[in-house]
Amino acid sequence: MKVLAVDLGGSHVACALVEDDSIVKSESFQLPPAARMSDVLALVEQPLLALREMASHSGAECSGLAFSFCGLVNPLAGRIVSTNGKYDDGRELDLGKWALERLSLRLLLENDARTALLGEYYAGAARGFDDVVMMTLGTGVGGAAMINGRLLHGKHFQAGCLGGHLGVNYRGRVCTCGNVGCLESEASTWALPAICTATPGFEESVLRHAPKLDFQTVFAASAEGDECAIRVGDTCVEAWAAGCVTMIHAYDPEVVVVGGGTMRAAEQILPALGAHISRCAWTPWGKVKVRAAKLGSAASLLGAVPLFRMNSQMDARK
Ligand SMILES: [Zn+2]
Repeated sequence: MKVLAVDLGGSHVACALVEDDSIVKSESFQLPPAARMSDVLALVEQPLLALREMASHSGAECSGLAFSFCGLVNPLAGRIVSTNGKYDDGRELDLGKWALERLSLRLLLENDARTALLGEYYAGAARGFDDVVMMTLGTGVGGAAMINGRLLHGKHFQAGCLGGHLGVNYRGRVCTCGNVGCLESEASTWALPAICTATPGFEESVLRHAPKLDFQTVFAASAEGDECAIRVGDTCVEAWAAGCVTMIHAYDPEVVVVGGGTMRAAEQILPALGAHISRCAWTPWGKVKVRAAKLGSAASLLGAVPLFRMNSQMDARK
């Protein structure tokens, strides 16, 4: 099966021609900071030329366009539901109509953590498992759950995909979503400057002079023995582990896949994360496997074919 894929994230838009579990062609566009808050149509149109070329390359065999979006979506209607202050005009956009008019293709819309889970399920770290939880650690924190081979959606399409907004500290920082002490506000890249400056030893830390505070910087400083960076890293791993344990208690997976840009430091994150989960998760049947994602930023794009396969199976059941 050949499918076109688009992945619209917080700071980039990527597109690809995907054939089964391989990316035939891909192109990525960095979004200018000013474009990130509004005008989704302009962002969606950015990869249009590349998509048209990929569509003509795939000929009549292209089954459609799988669109991954970094917010809550209604996959049945092909509409963006909520963006938490990002891409505010997205709700006005009829993406299905856009894809038909601009590319003559049927569009399937899905949340980007769900398509990342599908990619890892089909071609990555969750291959061979039907009960999977995915957590993506990046600018924010994404989540998704699959039970018995089916993605979890729920009545309002929120089920499983608010992993970043699970409360891990009820006296914690106020989150962008309105809640207090969410996983995102306690341990994500957007919250990192506030986390670092509030951590003892920051004034004496190399982090104070870092041109950019991201987890790569934190874990690099931590490997050099910087005490503040070690504290920040340990605290964030504990918060991610608490989020994973909650996801495990809620969705009963066999495997937890942890992905996202922050996992470039997987060697420093995964052992402590796995140990914490193993210690704290109540799973009398055995141990949940905790794995690093295998597909990196291609996971959502590689979720395109299983998304279409599952959809056609649902159509066949109607
Ligand atoms: Zn939140």
